[in-house]
Amino acid sequence: MTDLTEKEKQLKKQKEDIEELLNATKNILKYQNFETSAREIFDSCKRVTGAKSGYVALLSEDGSENELLFLDSGGLPCTVDPELPMPIRGLRAESYKSGKVVYDNSFMSSEYEKFLPKGHVILRNVLFGPLNIEGETVGIIGLANKDSDFTERDAKLVSGLSELAAISLYNSQMITRLKISEENYKKAYQRSELYKNIFAHDISNILQNVQSATELLDIYASEADDSKKRKELIMLAQEQVEKGSKLISDLLKFSEIEEKGLNLHKVNVCQKMRKAIEFVKRSYPESSININLKSKFEDLYILGNHLLGEVFENILINAVKYNESTTKKIDVNISKDKNNNENFIKIEFIDNGIGIPDSLKEKIFNKTIEKDEEHKGLGLGLLLVKRIVDEYKGTIQVKNRVKEDYRKGSNFIIKLPECESSLL
Ligand code: ADP
Repeated sequence: MTDLTEKEKQLKKQKEDIEELLNATKNILKYQNFETSAREIFDSCKRVTGAKSGYVALLSEDGSENELLFLDSGGLPCTVDPELPMPIRGLRAESYKSGKVVYDNSFMSSEYEKFLPKGHVILRNVLFGPLNIEGETVGIIGLANKDSDFTERDAKLVSGLSELAAISLYNSQMITRLKISEENYKKAYQRSELYKNIFAHDISNILQNVQSATELLDIYASEADDSKKRKELIMLAQEQVEKGSKLISDLLKFSEIEEKGLNLHKVNVCQKMRKAIEFVKRSYPESSININLKSKFEDLYILGNHLLGEVFENILINAVKYNESTTKKIDVNISKDKNNNENFIKIEFIDNGIGIPDSLKEKIFNKTIEKDEEHKGLGLGLLLVKRIVDEYKGTIQVKNRVKEDYRKGSNFIIKLPECESSLL
């Protein structure tokens, strides 16, 4: 008779255990968020084992510490500083090492007791269940203070429940990764749509201009004494062709960044600037250009690549292009700057050009498809500049040369994080 009651009791217990496992399985399917399902699974662990307290923790990125997700002290006062690091040592290190459940039923008299920080609740007994993903232990469920001893049955059940918690962790990590990559694809798609729209718009403008020039040339062809007009029209057509090829090369640079990302290395800012200045002077042999480079330091470095030259050339060329002064004057000042304890290199391009009205100042760096459906011939140049500066973790802004009057010229200011010359 007692045998039968004992059997019944065992069957009832087994039924409860199975229900608890099923419950935990449901929880990992129900919650996409690991923290929520971890809490549920932890509570299941407490119920099936009878443990009173415990925690769930994940291994830190460098693998040296436990990072606590939550702690349940079972209502007992615990005065340990929650910020105190939890190194992987003692009994939990055994579980991390073996990837298996481990337990100790006389913890306070074990060799591990010495690792307990001051103020920690008394641990009568302790059991650890590892969270294993693809053969690696990436976290742990810790349980403690069961009234009686932990048993092999507890170990088996916690092993199953830890496996479920690991699946939940893996799923939630995958979902986060998927969300991030979806977000990145969306952004890349929107950017490529924007570049495509600007490109299509500007190319069709260019072709229209070339067509008008050739039509006019056709008319002037029969008038023998109008060679000056013809020359002007040929120059206009040539300028448009150059504009078109710049647009194509900008577009290719965008796709270089989008596809491969930038491989950054140490770049000398003053050297790159000198090359860009030479290039711009060579490109406008007929114009009177006075570019004045000032820098207290010769060796200033940033983490960049060959596209830094592209940034400088674009801004310098604009300062010449959008400039009606007889002598196009550009002051380039390179200096060191500090922002929130971070060292920056500040580069200013101050021109005596036509200036940029406030309404255009924001637009030139931040064109969007929504805002810019009626895009009016703003090229890709400064968009490319902004994109490169972003990749270098820098900033770009434009101010007036003379505060109150934008017509007196512009001041483009770029700030890039300084890379100490001793680094890399
Ligand atoms: P694009 O020169 O092909 O139009 P950019 O992106 O290089 O394309 O420049 C966008 C616009 O910003 C220009 O059309 C011009 O109106 C204005 N701009 C840029 N730089 C200057 C400058 N230094 N002075 C005045 N206007 C400028």
